[in-house]
Amino acid sequence: MSEDKPPTDAALVLFSGGQDSTVCLAWALARYDRVETVGFDYGQRHGVEMQARDHVRAGFIQRFPAWASRLGPDHRLDLRGFGAVAESALTADRAIEMTDRGLPSTFVPGRNLAFFIYAAALADRRGLPDLVGGMCETDYSGYPDCRRETLDAMQAALNLGMARDFRIRTPLMSLTKAQTWGMAQALGGKPLVDVIVEDSHTCYLGERGLRHAWGYGCGTCPACELRKGGFEDWSAKGRPALELIP
Ligand code: ZN
Repeated sequence: MSEDKPPTDAALVLFSGGQDSTVCLAWALARYDRVETVGFDYGQRHGVEMQARDHVRAGFIQRFPAWASRLGPDHRLDLRGFGAVAESALTADRAIEMTDRGLPSTFVPGRNLAFFIYAAALADRRGLPDLVGGMCETDYSGYPDCRRETLDAMQAALNLGMARDFRIRTPLMSLTKAQTWGMAQALGGKPLVDVIVEDSHTCYLGERGLRHAWGYGCGTCPACELRKGGFEDWSAKGRPALELIP
């Protein structure tokens, strides 16, 4: 996939309010003239993520005037019907564990694929040719729909089925979690890192009571462990800005 300057000037960012999609939103705002965001309500156990989306967007508008002028509307799509079909630990009251097919119980079958179909339908109407997602296969958590190979197939299917020329862009795909913090540092310096720490939300358990150096969360669920581990690796290296931003 080419990572050169986009020939198009507008993008739709799949924005959950988590760390990864927050960095993707910053990446897009640094590149495109017009950026809109989309979030999905698929019956998550916690409303915390959806609140985090508003706080991150408000934080960007407040701290980054150049980005504020490019940030267009936010869209929220109701996918609760999908969530009811694809029930998992994130949408039902079940323990987070490995299943007998070797996937975490947090895996929602087809979730990212469903997100991209809805995102593309929205992007078609809004005239947004690039779709940006925070999927990452470096800290591979066992989600087969986060692989670039899957997203290449999805992109081909969308373009065939909608007679469009969408590009699915995944700037974090090859980064470690430490490098994702470094990308944030490169894109927006400490103010962006502060927005991520204070406003983005990653914890699977929806914990917002405990504030750590890396943000809020229980500190022990798989999502918190990745976020915490990445922050600590990055801090141990002196919190460098990532030099080569894809
Ligand atoms: Zn947690």
